[in-house]
Amino acid sequence: MDPSVEKLLVLQEREQKKMRLEKELAAWPTEMKALETKRAEVRAAAERKRQEAQQTEVERKKLELEAESHRTKVARYKIQQFETRKNEEFQALGTEISREEKEIQEIEDKELELMDAGEKAKKAAVAEEDFAKIEAEMAKVAKEDQPFVRKEVTRDEAKTWFESRGQSFKVSRLGDIPEGEAITFYTNGEFTDLCAGTHVKSTGQVKAFKLLSVAGAYHRGDEKNAQLQRLYGTAFAKKEELEAYLKQLEEAKLRDHRKLGKELDLFLIDDEVGPGLVMWTPNGAIVRQEMQKFLSEELGKRGYEQVFTPHIGRLGLYRTSGHFPYYRESQYPPLVDGETLEKMAKEKCSCADLSNRISKGEIEGYLLKPMNCPMHIRIYASRPRSYRDLPVRLAEFGTVYRWEQSGELNGMTRVRGFTQDDAHIFCTEEQVAKEVEGCLEMVRLVLDTLGINEFRVRVGLRDPGSDKYVGAKELWDKAEKAVKEAAKKLGVKTSEEPGEAAFYGPKIDFVVKDVIGREWQLGTVQVDYNLPERFGLTYTGADNAKHRPVMIHRAPFGSLERFTGVLIEHFRGAFPVWLAPEQARFLPVNEQMIAYAEKLAAEFKAAGLRVSVDVKGDKLGAQIRRGQLEKVPFLLVCGNREAEAGQVAVRSREKGDEGAQGADEVKDRIVELARTRK
Ligand SMILES: [Zn+2]
Repeated sequence: MDPSVEKLLVLQEREQKKMRLEKELAAWPTEMKALETKRAEVRAAAERKRQEAQQTEVERKKLELEAESHRTKVARYKIQQFETRKNEEFQALGTEISREEKEIQEIEDKELELMDAGEKAKKAAVAEEDFAKIEAEMAKVAKEDQPFVRKEVTRDEAKTWFESRGQSFKVSRLGDIPEGEAITFYTNGEFTDLCAGTHVKSTGQVKAFKLLSVAGAYHRGDEKNAQLQRLYGTAFAKKEELEAYLKQLEEAKLRDHRKLGKELDLFLIDDEVGPGLVMWTPNGAIVRQEMQKFLSEELGKRGYEQVFTPHIGRLGLYRTSGHFPYYRESQYPPLVDGETLEKMAKEKCSCADLSNRISKGEIEGYLLKPMNCPMHIRIYASRPRSYRDLPVRLAEFGTVYRWEQSGELNGMTRVRGFTQDDAHIFCTEEQVAKEVEGCLEMVRLVLDTLGINEFRVRVGLRDPGSDKYVGAKELWDKAEKAVKEAAKKLGVKTSEEPGEAAFYGPKIDFVVKDVIGREWQLGTVQVDYNLPERFGLTYTGADNAKHRPVMIHRAPFGSLERFTGVLIEHFRGAFPVWLAPEQARFLPVNEQMIAYAEKLAAEFKAAGLRVSVDVKGDKLGAQIRRGQLEKVPFLLVCGNREAEAGQVAVRSREKGDEGAQGADEVKDRIVELARTRK
């Protein structure tokens, strides 16, 4: 193309561009304006938004505040409610507390009241210090010679009288008097008593009296009842009698076998072994052995045969005899073997079940022997007996066990295990009287030997109105006649007491009087028609038919424990030579004399005497004192002079200083005393 044209074209194009630019330039402010507007708008919107946001924030805050305040309100409400509730509870608690405080106050008041009453009661209670004052008052009443006036009253009168005086115990006592029985008052001076009588005529007749002791006692002996005081006193017609009695009481204290038993080392009761279970220590064992030897000799002379039986026996045996389960409370519980116990444990059997099943006999057990009789019966029954064999007299120093309440236990006289001087005589009815007589004779001989010269017997007979006895009336008549006659023949004091028989037969109880005049109940002789029946005992009579023997149980001294306890008190520990644990003691005056004393001691021992040598090495006076305290019957002093002459200086418990005597003579004398039981 032509250059000019081309040029023209370029120019044209430039022109057009210039025009477009101009146009664009002309439009720019508008655009700018729009943009600015737009920007302003956006800004405004933003501002609006910002403001809105601000508003929202305020709103939010406001809301938040509102929410906050709402929450507070709720909380406050809740707190209020809580406080109200707590307040209510608090108030309730307060009420309760004050109520309880009031109660406590009341209790405290009551306590104070009771303490006051106790104090008052204590002040009112009698103590031994008050005795002199009371006795003075008694003396005054006696001096006034007030007559005792007896008056019979009706039950209502008596009740009104005591009720109006607040004497509730006597009101309660009134209830004991059977309907139809007379109710009597005795009045002296200003004092009226509910009393059956009888009384002396007047208080002036009471010449000699003394209060002895005071002890707490429960009304009717029941600890659930009110506690009272019991004053013990005594009265005699003559002053001398009272004095003799008081002296006897003093003596009794000195003779207490529990005290002497310890001092002389005779027996031991040790809690670790068991309460009421007596151990005979060497000295006491000698006393017992000598007693048993003596009794055994007598048994032999009187046709008894001695046996030994075990300490336990099958329950069944005691079921047959009736000792189980009827006397269960006075026995140790039955023994059950290990295998049975294990089996029972596996069956989850309770103690009560076990006890029940033992009672019912579903389980076999053993009993610590409460009585020797059933075993002696089994010995009798072990072979056929003919009337020619009778009487069969089986004796045993048989140890038995009884359950005594712990409160009842007392030294050797109330124990839980003891050895009876037991025997059972199986005889014909015709032989009963003679056998009972034989028992009584033996008792008399033993007591005479021991210097217990006084004893009496109590004959326990049937209660004629009761039907609790077993056996035919004719048999009872015979048995009662037999025991009564036997007692009569003995020529001792006898009291007959209807109702005191055992359920199986009449019995005789022995009551001995010791040197200071106290009475001791020892053993018994019982005629028994019941056990031979229960065990089906028989003998073949002269008629060749079977007959039932009669059984006599006899344990005249009761038990060796009790009897020895009585003997310790009777002898005040100073046993006669034959019973003395140590019969003689040699007292060497110096060391050189010990050999002489020991030579003599060996000779005395060889003669069967129980002797010792005091080798403690103190002065003769101390040796003598010790020997006396230990109540050795013969103290034999060995000095140089005595040794040269083959003598001893004798100090006997009975006669004191007897001077020097030949050692052989002294030995023979003591041997003779022991042999003759003098
Ligand atoms: Zn018996």
